[in-house]
Amino acid sequence: MQGFRRLPAVDQFLKSDPGQALIEMHGRQMVTGALRAELDAARAAIRDGAQAQALADALPIRVAERLDLDSRSQLRPILNLTGTVLHTNLGRAILSDQAISAASAAMASPLALEFDLETGGRGQRDDHLRGLLCELTGAEDATIVNNNAAAVLIALNTLAMGREAIVSRGELIEIGGAFRMPDIMARAGAKLVEVGTTNRTHPRDYETAITAETGLLMKVHTSNYRIEGFTAEVAAPELAAIASAAGVPLLNDLGAGSLIDLGDYGLRREPTVAEAVAEGADLITFSGDKLLGGPQAGFIVGRRDLIAAINKNPLKRALRLDKIRIAALEATLRLYRDPDRLAQSLPTLRDLSRPRDQIAAMAARLVPLVQDLLPDGFQVSACDCASQIGSGALPTDTLPSAGLRLTGPGGDAPDRLAARLRALPLPVIGHIHDGALILDLRCLQSDDDLIKALRAL
Ligand SMILES: *Cc1c(COP(=O)(O)O)cnc(C)c1O
Repeated sequence: MQGFRRLPAVDQFLKSDPGQALIEMHGRQMVTGALRAELDAARAAIRDGAQAQALADALPIRVAERLDLDSRSQLRPILNLTGTVLHTNLGRAILSDQAISAASAAMASPLALEFDLETGGRGQRDDHLRGLLCELTGAEDATIVNNNAAAVLIALNTLAMGREAIVSRGELIEIGGAFRMPDIMARAGAKLVEVGTTNRTHPRDYETAITAETGLLMKVHTSNYRIEGFTAEVAAPELAAIASAAGVPLLNDLGAGSLIDLGDYGLRREPTVAEAVAEGADLITFSGDKLLGGPQAGFIVGRRDLIAAINKNPLKRALRLDKIRIAALEATLRLYRDPDRLAQSLPTLRDLSRPRDQIAAMAARLVPLVQDLLPDGFQVSACDCASQIGSGALPTDTLPSAGLRLTGPGGDAPDRLAARLRALPLPVIGHIHDGALILDLRCLQSDDDLIKALRAL
């Protein structure tokens, strides 16, 4: 077609000034690919009757825009204004400065991961965390794997492969779709023996289920639901006594597993890991990136002989942690040695314990500033919010919070605005409620962070 001739040849474009500038930024291969795609699009447009010279003139900008979009990571930082502090889909806990420095140092340099600096002999990667975990939980021994799901899997597989695992019907949890207790049991090679009913399980239910085939008793924290009303469960100390009398271990899966008393920070008390240890469970599993505020990891603490058996399981190698997370975990756990300053040093605890009044003052300051940045027709006002902890910690509790309520013309205004905020260079993620887009400010570090992000509107 005649108009095609107005478009530059690939070589010609790459040699031009705009072409050279783009190559400097993105590399020849990426620029060539983007250029070919834009040339194809331009030829198609010309066939459809578009003006060839205009398309040729716009080509450098179109190629630059395509390259910018291509080089933008989907994994880039966002502002979590959903109101859920530990949001699994947004990466759960954000790490402390100390953990970030430790992880960066571990990435940038060799380190004595499995090397004993005193003897020059071989060391164990878990040693960097074992002492701290025992100190903070009172447990005899500890081991660490990829996440808490892995901790449960390897504990079950080690203690109950080919044998029976006894669990209350009220505790057969599903966490986020893929983690269902009966399925994990099956994969671990354990035969699930359900006892009791959904709402009530008694000591005798466990006692009568124990046979020569029993590998373990298991207690599971009902992380994301609560059974209320006419209920009965066997508390961990009593279950530990039943297990011990029968000579089988008790595994207690705590899920979120806090190392500190959340009651000290205005939250509802949850049993701490140290309490669970003191209650007599033989093994306890919990997550690194839930209430603990570290990177993804699964901890198993408890009896030395059982931990040793887990460490000998070939699955341990498949589920082990890398040096980056071990370094970040060590730095995170060290913060717990100074509990007085934990609410400042640990971002998870800082966000969870932030007083409502402070968040409301932030909302009041931001209303006029945000109003100026919103597209025409959109309104902002301050509102009350109810934040959630998330990740299966205190599932039915909410934290009084405050935020911004954004409304606009038309029924789909909140969705349209939410899409525009997601498309920002620093995406802003809220939630839609009652015909408005709500930005809960609990996890916003500074007014500036939001203002800067919204300026790109
Ligand atoms: C969250 C949770 C798990 C899974 O832990 P991950 O760290 O997400 O692998 C297992 N059990 C319970 C009770 C939980 O709450």
